[in-house]
Amino acid sequence: MPLLSMFKALPAVAAAGALAAVSGAGYLLTQQQQHLWGGSGRSEGDDELELLERPPPRPTQLERLRGSTRDRPFDLLIIGGGATGAGCALDAVTRGLRTALVEREDFAAGTSSKSTKLVHGGVRYLEKAVFQLDYRQLRLVWEALHERAVMLALAPHLAHPLPILTPCYKWWEVPYFWAGLKAYDLVAGRRNLVMSRYVAPREAQGLFPTLAQQQPDTGRRLKGAILYYDGQFDDARYNVALACTAAAAGGAVANYVEVQQLIKNPDGKVVGAVVQDRLAQEPPFEVYARVVMNTTGCFTDQVRHMSQGPDAADIIQPSSGAHVTLPAWYAGTHSNGLIIPKTKDGRVVFMIPFLGHVIAGTTDAKCAVSDRPVASPQEVGFILEALQDYLDIQVRPADVLSTWSGIRPLAADPRAKDTQNTVRDHVIMEEADGMITVSGGKWTTYRAMAEEAVDLALATGRMPPNARPHSRTARLPLLGGAGYSHTLPQQLAQEHGPMAAEAEAGALAASPAPPGAKAGPGRGTGAGGGGGGSSSVSGSRVVIGEDTAAHLAQAYGSRAGRVLQTATDRGLGSRLVAGHPFLEAEVVYAVRHEYCHTPQDFLARRTRLAFLDARAALAALPRVVELMAAECGWDGARRAAMSAAARDYLATYLPAPAAAAAAAAASADVAAASAVAAATPTAAA
Ligand SMILES: Cc1cc2nc3c(=O)[nH]c(=O)nc-3n(C[C@H](O)[C@H](O)[C@H](O)COP(=O)(O)OP(=O)(O)OC[C@H]3O[C@@H](n4cnc5c(N)ncnc54)[C@H](O)[C@@H]3O)c2cc1C
Repeated sequence: MPLLSMFKALPAVAAAGALAAVSGAGYLLTQQQQHLWGGSGRSEGDDELELLERPPPRPTQLERLRGSTRDRPFDLLIIGGGATGAGCALDAVTRGLRTALVEREDFAAGTSSKSTKLVHGGVRYLEKAVFQLDYRQLRLVWEALHERAVMLALAPHLAHPLPILTPCYKWWEVPYFWAGLKAYDLVAGRRNLVMSRYVAPREAQGLFPTLAQQQPDTGRRLKGAILYYDGQFDDARYNVALACTAAAAGGAVANYVEVQQLIKNPDGKVVGAVVQDRLAQEPPFEVYARVVMNTTGCFTDQVRHMSQGPDAADIIQPSSGAHVTLPAWYAGTHSNGLIIPKTKDGRVVFMIPFLGHVIAGTTDAKCAVSDRPVASPQEVGFILEALQDYLDIQVRPADVLSTWSGIRPLAADPRAKDTQNTVRDHVIMEEADGMITVSGGKWTTYRAMAEEAVDLALATGRMPPNARPHSRTARLPLLGGAGYSHTLPQQLAQEHGPMAAEAEAGALAASPAPPGAKAGPGRGTGAGGGGGGSSSVSGSRVVIGEDTAAHLAQAYGSRAGRVLQTATDRGLGSRLVAGHPFLEAEVVYAVRHEYCHTPQDFLARRTRLAFLDARAALAALPRVVELMAAECGWDGARRAAMSAAARDYLATYLPAPAAAAAAAAASADVAAASAVAAATPTAAA
C-alpha cells in the first residue's frame, strides 16, 4: 500500500497533522453523508417499484428493441453491459425512462468479471488526500466507501465484509499501517464495516495460518498485522443481477447484440444505432433513442470513433491486470484475506478467499485493447513470487487452478488541461454529437457513476419531462437480494440436507404410499463426491450437501429455492462435476431466467467455475452443452460449434502448460467445427 509506505518518508509530526486533517474532513463528510442518506423518512423514489417476477425472455426483449422507430424512440440506448452499462440501465429504467441496453457478448464478459472482487474505498486516493491535503481525492474515497456500504446492502448474498490482514515485518510499519487504516475507518464514518485493529503475530498466524512468521528473503520476523475490513463480491453474478433487475423493471436488455454503427440525424446528432443479433443469422436492424450512452469500458474509443471518426483522440489508457486462483488451503482454513502492501517492485498484491478458493493478484501493465486478454506466464510468475515472500508454504506453479486477465478502462478526460489530474476516477461527458460517454471508475462506484450519467442524460433536455429527477437505486435491492436472510445456507441445509431426506424417507416408509407416488430415494445419480458430499433427488425433494447449500444461497440469494425446485421438477439434482457444488439444474435455471446463451456464459459468469478451476470447467463442459442443447433446441452442428467455441474460450483460463495442451485439442475441435462456425455467427460469440 503506497499510502502507508509514504508515511515513512514524512516526519511523524507532519504525518500526524495530515492524518488529523483528513480525519477532521472525513468527519465533516460523514456528517454531510448522514444528512444526505441517513434520514429515517422515505425519500422521493422510495415508493414501491413494480418488478416483473422474472426477466422477460430474450425473444421478447429483441422484439422490443426492433420496435423502436425514429418517431417512437427509446429514451436511452446504452451500449455495453458491464458493470457501468448495467448500472446505468437500472438507474434509467427505475426513473421511468424507456431504456434499452445492448451487450455484444455476455453481461460481464469484459472487465467486469475479472476484477479483484473487492468492494473498496481506494486507498490510493486517500494517499493523495493525506499527502496533498486534497479535498477532492478525499471525496472520492468517501464516495467509494459510501458505495461500498450500498453495494453490500443491495445484494447481501453476493457481497459481504471481508477481513484483510496487513502483515508488518518492520517495527515502523505497525504504527504507519495502523494510522493509515484508522484514517480509512474514519473516512467511512458510520458506514464503516468493522474497525481496524492491530493483531499480535500469534493471532495473525491463527487468522492466516500460512502467513510467514519470518520472511524468507529478508529474515525479518513478523511484528504483527493490522486487520481491516473491506467488501468482497461475486463480480459477474452482481453484473448479471443488475442486468436482470433492469430487465425485470422494464428495460429492453439483451446480450449478444452488437452495435455496429451509430445513426445520426442530418444535424449530426446521434439518434440510434445499427445493431446485430449475434445469435441469429438475420440482417442488422436499427434501434432509435433520444440519448445514446457509450459504456463500453476499454472499447470506449471504438464506439467514440464510430461517433466522431477514426481521428478522434483516444481517451482510454488500457492497462491489464492478471490474477491466479489457488486452492483454499493457501489461506488456511479461515476466510481472511491478505494484502501484500509492497512487492519488491512496489506494487500491491491481494490474496483473497473467493468461493472456496483463493485468488491472488493483480498486475498492472500497459496493453493493447483485446476482447480476450490472457494472463502471461510473466504475470503469473510475478504474482507467485510476490506470494512466496509472505507465505510459509512453498508456492508452486503446479497448484495454480486458473489464471485470467482483465483490462482497466482508465479514462483521461479530454477536456482537462492539467494532465496530472486527467486520470481521475471516471469520465462522464456529452460528446459534440450528443452521445454520452461513461468510462473509468471502479466496480465499487458503478452505481454512483450510473446516477451521475443518467442525471446528465436528463440535463440534455432530451428526456421526457415526467422522468424522475433523482435516482432510486441506492435503496433498490437486486433480484435475490430482497428477502435474503443470512441464515439461508443453514435453512437450505436443514430442508435439503441428507438428514432431512432420511427423515422424509422414514416418514414415507412409515406411511402407506399414495396411489401413483414415485419410488423413494435415488432418482438422481449423485455424480458428486468431495467438497461436502453428493447431491441427488430423494422423494419429493432434492438432497444437497452443505457446500451446495452455501453456494446456492450465495449465488441466488432469495431465489435459491427456485433453483432447487428446478432440480426437483427436472430430476437435475446431481453435481455437474465432482469436487464443486454446482448442480445440473443451474444450467436450466440460467438459460431460462438469467440470459445464459453459451456454455461459457454458464461456466464463467453464471457460475464461476472457469475462474475457480479451469480444468474442472473443461470437465463439466460436455454435460453443460448437453443440457443447454436440450433446453435451447440446438441441432448437432450448433452443439459442436458451441462446444468448440467454449473449449477455445476456457483454454484461456488454463495455467500455461495445460493451456498449451488444451489449445492443441481446441484447435482440432475448432477445425472440425469450422464449417459450422462459418455458417453460424454464434460460434464466435
Ligand atoms: C485486474 C483488475 C482488477 C480490478 N479490481 C477491482 C476491484 O477489486 N474493485 C473495484 O471496485 N474495481 C476493480 N476493477 C475495476 C472494475 O473491474 C472496472 O472498473 C469495471 O469492471 C469496468 O466496467 P465497465 O462496464 O466500464 O467495462 P466492461 O466490463 O469491460 O464492459 C464493457 C462492455 O461493453 C461491451 N461492448 C464493447 N463494444 C460493444 C459494442 N460495439 N456493442 C455492444 N457492446 C459492446 C463489451 O463486450 C463489454 O462487456 C478492476 C479492474 C481490473 C482490470
